[in-house]
Amino acid sequence: MEKSGRKKSFSGNFMNITYRAKGNIYLNITSRCPSDCAFCLAKFTDKVYGYDLKLAREPDLDEVLGGLELAFSEGPAAEVVFVGLGEPSVRLDLVLEVVRWCRPRRIRTRLVTNGHGQLINPEREVVRELALAGLNAVSISLVAHNPEVYNQVCRPLFSNGFSEAVRFAQECVSSGIETELTFIDLPEVDIEDCRNIAERTGARFRLRPLIDEDSKEVRA
Ligand code: SF4
Repeated sequence: MEKSGRKKSFSGNFMNITYRAKGNIYLNITSRCPSDCAFCLAKFTDKVYGYDLKLAREPDLDEVLGGLELAFSEGPAAEVVFVGLGEPSVRLDLVLEVVRWCRPRRIRTRLVTNGHGQLINPEREVVRELALAGLNAVSISLVAHNPEVYNQVCRPLFSNGFSEAVRFAQECVSSGIETELTFIDLPEVDIEDCRNIAERTGARFRLRPLIDEDSKEVRA
């Protein structure tokens, strides 16, 4: 699967659409994101788990499903995870289609997101649609314990990004989607307050290091 020294899984026009790590299959569907996190890996590298995730263009549904078929032909995976170097909910329709493809095949799906899906798609009922499609789990990157620190670190396009991410998490919990809130271990982040937010929301709490040395990524 190696070509020109680049680590590849499924590749359309030399783009790594799927990649494997930690027993999962990851989907790299966009590089767009309405936030500008100071720690975003996309600022420093195109590589995650040794895969070059630079996208010359966004893959279409056929390419993503083709990539999944090929990836599963090489062996099972614990879950299919939407995570690359962008925010997957900017491609809500594609995410929904992939979840609908996975569900009858009993393939678990998880969305890694900044929780701004409803802000990005204001005309939709995002969480309801994800739940109806059959999404199993969501990991929402809340990063910090309050909007001030969040805005400083994540520089979101949306001024209400923090509160909307919390609301997104609450809706996911209410809709029966397994929900975790992730926070970043930074000096300015109050870990106990983060834990309390997760508890109040009904989500699982997870603290992430700034950089995962294993993967060189910060979001999965
Ligand atoms: S939300 Fe994620 S993809 Fe977007 S800038 Fe932050 S770390 Fe990067």
